[in-house]
Amino acid sequence: MKQVIEAIAKYNKFLITAHVNLEGDSLGSQLGMKALVESLGKTAIIVDNDAVPDHYKFLPRAEEVCNKLGDGEDFEAAIVLDCPTLKRIGKVRDLIAKGKFIINVDHHISNEKFGDINWVDPNASSAGEMVYKIFKEMGIKLTKETALVLYIAILTDTGSFNYDNTSSVTHEIAGELLGYGIDPASVSESVYERRSIADIKFLGRVLSTIKVNKAADVAYLEITRKMLKETGADLVKAEGFVNYARSIDKVRVAIIFKEDVNDKINVSFRSKGDVDVNKIASFFNGGGHVKASGCVIEGSIAEAEKKVLDKVEEVLRSK
Ligand code: 5GP
Ligand code: MN
Repeated sequence: MKQVIEAIAKYNKFLITAHVNLEGDSLGSQLGMKALVESLGKTAIIVDNDAVPDHYKFLPRAEEVCNKLGDGEDFEAAIVLDCPTLKRIGKVRDLIAKGKFIINVDHHISNEKFGDINWVDPNASSAGEMVYKIFKEMGIKLTKETALVLYIAILTDTGSFNYDNTSSVTHEIAGELLGYGIDPASVSESVYERRSIADIKFLGRVLSTIKVNKAADVAYLEITRKMLKETGADLVKAEGFVNYARSIDKVRVAIIFKEDVNDKINVSFRSKGDVDVNKIASFFNGGGHVKASGCVIEGSIAEAEKKVLDKVEEVLRSK
């Protein structure tokens, strides 16, 4: 963290980015970092591969998230947040490939330490928590808006303080953030309770694909392009669906297979108990955390399911 603070002090123009498929932590940590840099009288531009999903557009200053650099815009250093590999920033990689200084701040256990400076803390609940710690360490006062985006980063990445990345420190920080005048019930409503009827029908459709293996300790769901077309749903609305598979009694590994364009299947893993799904995702060149990970597999959804389920069986039965 000390090196990150030194680098923030040294440079004046920053590009801030995070992983593809923006969600609560990647957005909250980036918006928090932008506020921090700007409070020092420096400039920061957020550039991401993807657009802000509609259900996160209520975040203060979410409209400042760009998908490319504007004419004449430049930067000296890139701050990459919540991102285990440089590949996961998508097309933004082309912007920072030109020998720019890279500051890597992340909490993924699979982080490849691709930066010139790497602050990787797998014990942190979220990248938002790490940004909060920089504010504290530098003695910079937060605004209510910044407290809100950091609270949402922590709230979403801990599954509302349910996952085991939640510690007493996480609760202490969340408590301090609430002290800026944030109402947890209204935040929860904004984040989790603004689904459309179409979203719920889409969820129903996805849940009806549930399958379990013979031992009934692996449950999996799938989302095909056909389902997206027929329901008019957006893949970003599937955030959290995999948790329904994990919520089944005795299930140790939950998986969701999502058909993407170009014959690519996005696979998300969640585990319960002692199964390390970061290892399973890493086998397929992905990564993440011990209990939440992902990878991309080329081929049809049936092929991806076969490959992944075989590997999961091998891991579970080897114990
Ligand atoms: P999700 O299932 O929510 O997309 O991702 C779960 C976790 O795994 C997140 O921390 C995410 O960053 C990571 N993850 C998801 N897909 C990939 C992937 O293809 N490669 C890597 N390295 N990590 C991934
Ligand atoms: Mn995160």
